[in-house]
Parts: sequence; C-alpha cells; structure tokens
Amino acid sequence: QAKRQGRNTWQWCRGTQAGDTRHSVTLRHDLHNALAEDQFELYYQPVVDAVSGRIRSTEALVRWHHPSRGMVSPGEFIPLAEQTGQIVPLGRWILRRACQDMVRFNADRERELPVAVNISSLQFHRDGFLADVRQILAETGMPARLLEFEVTESVLLDGTGPVIELMETLKDMGIRVALDDFGTGFSSLSYLRDLPTHKVKLDRSFIKDIQTDRRIAAIVQGVITMAHHMDMCVVAEGIETPEHQDDLARRLCDLLQGYYFARPMPLNALQALSDRLPHHQKTQDHS
Ligand code: C2E
Ligand code: MG
Ligand code: MG
Ligand code: MG
Repeated sequence: QAKRQGRNTWQWCRGTQAGDTRHSVTLRHDLHNALAEDQFELYYQPVVDAVSGRIRSTEALVRWHHPSRGMVSPGEFIPLAEQTGQIVPLGRWILRRACQDMVRFNADRERELPVAVNISSLQFHRDGFLADVRQILAETGMPARLLEFEVTESVLLDGTGPVIELMETLKDMGIRVALDDFGTGFSSLSYLRDLPTHKVKLDRSFIKDIQTDRRIAAIVQGVITMAHHMDMCVVAEGIETPEHQDDLARRLCDLLQGYYFARPMPLNALQALSDRLPHHQKTQDHS
C-alpha cells in the first residue's frame, strides 16, 4: 500500500515536472514570434502621493496576449525571456513603446507625468544598452527628465563597479534610477550608501503584513527613515486597503502604488482617469 502510494506520488511528481517543462518549452518557443506578431502591450499603473492621493507618475508593465493561452503574466515570461536573451529586443520594444505612449499622453496635459520602466539585469548590463536608450529618446522625443528606470538588487549583484558608473551616466542624462522590490533579496542596507539612486520601492510583501507584524512594521519604518536621511524617497507597492494607505502615510512614506488606487491599465484607461485616486463613485447605487 505504502509502496504503491509512493510510486504514485513519484509518478505524479514526474508527470508534473514533465508537464511544467513542456509548458515552459512551448512558452519559450511562442515567445520568439510574439514580438513580430505584435502580441505585447504595455499597461500603466499610477503611483500616487501618499497623503493627497494625486497621481505623481506611472509604471509601465508589459502584458502578453498569447493567442491561445490568453494573458500570460510577466512574472512567468520575463524570466524565460531572460534565459533566451529575448529580453533584449523585448526590453527595447518596451522602452520605445513607453516613451511613445507617454509623449502622446503628456502632449495635452497641463502637468506631465513621468513613467517608470522596469529594466532587467541582463538588459542593464548589455554593452549596447546606453546607446539604445539614447537612440530611443532621440527618436521618440521623450524628455529624459520624465523617464525613470526600475532595477532590482540583482542588477547590483551582477557586478558593482560598472553598474554605479552606468547609473551615474544615466543620472547625468537626466534619467533617474529607482531600486525596485527593495528588501526582498540579499541586499544589505549599506550598499544604498554608494548608489546614485533617488528612490526605493518597498516590496509589497512588507505591506501585506504591516498591520499584524510589529517587526515588519519596524523594518518599513526603518527603511523610510533611513531613505529620507539619505535624501531618497520611498514608494510602497501593494497598497490594497485604505488602512494600508493610512498606515504608510502616518509613517511618512512618500508615494503609494497598489490595487486600492488603481490596477495596471491600458493607456486609454489611464487617459480617462481623474487626477486624484482612489476614484470613489460619486453616486451610490443601492438598487
Ligand atoms: P514589479 O516591477 O515589482 O511590478 C509590480 C507588480 O505588482 C506588478 O505585477 C503589478 O501589477 C503588481 N501590483 C501592483 N499593485 C498591486 C497590489 O496592490 N497587489 C498585488 N497583489 N499586486 C500588485 P506584474 O505586472 O504582474 O509584473 C510582475 C513583475 O514582472 C514586475 O514586478 C517586474 O519585475 C516584471 N515586469 C513587468 N513588466 C516588465 C517590463 O516591462 N520589463 C521587465 N524587465 N520586467 C517587467
Ligand atoms: Mg517595478
Ligand atoms: Mg516592485
Ligand atoms: Mg515586485
């Protein structure tokens, strides 16, 4: 009985793994045509002032409309694209599209919105990256001061010397670099000392438990206070409730991003959005 169960378990495991492998092999294959087939789209998620709820900037988040699977999450295909090197042309497409979109978006706005674009480690470390960036800015007419890059700690772990140089160059060009998913990796707080960054984005895993876990709350408070002392601003990701907003605003977190304010959305939906979020319904429909 036990043996049989063991074998079944083993077969089940093997079956699952084989399935997963086939799944990702297929996805990886499909990824090759996706760019040429125009299957990607950029969504934009607002980032708001913690106190007023006014939109301060947006983050571009890539979406893949797979012809048979529907929407595939970037959490699933970005790692595959990194493995195959596809992230390079895809990343170039993302940057170009984000710049084109925001130039158009800002054309008829009184107050221009900056856009943040996620840059994967491989892309960031590639020799031609800076040349690509310059070319895309020139080509789209995007002002560098409205562009921000989001990089994770992995960018820093893949070598420190040239990374800091590159970040300095970007900064001189007017492009700011924010540290994304802060607190999730093996980061030590001390490397912030050397980084020419103006912003840290607290990972949403901290926000989830902030009201129930005093240690998490202490870490969050510590990061905010420390960042301010280093003249950096702090964004909290994953704000899902008004309580989250109150808590982070009370801790003097500068900016907030999360489903409570707005989910990532297509550009035309962003255009229709009011300046102040969350966008409460004016009339309650009780029918
Ligand atoms: P990220 O850069 O940390 O982006 C934030 C993720 O959190 C997004 O997931 C966003 O939809 C999600 N999110 C925002 N607010 C909330 C909330 O209140 N609750 C919850 N549960 N989630 C929230 P998404 O779009 O699935 O992207 C996942 C990750 O994939 C991103 O994490 C980023 O690392 C990567 N990614 C997305 N777009 C791009 C891109 O254009 N280029 C690169 N290199 N990576 C990207
Ligand atoms: Mg990001
Ligand atoms: Mg993040
Ligand atoms: Mg994240």
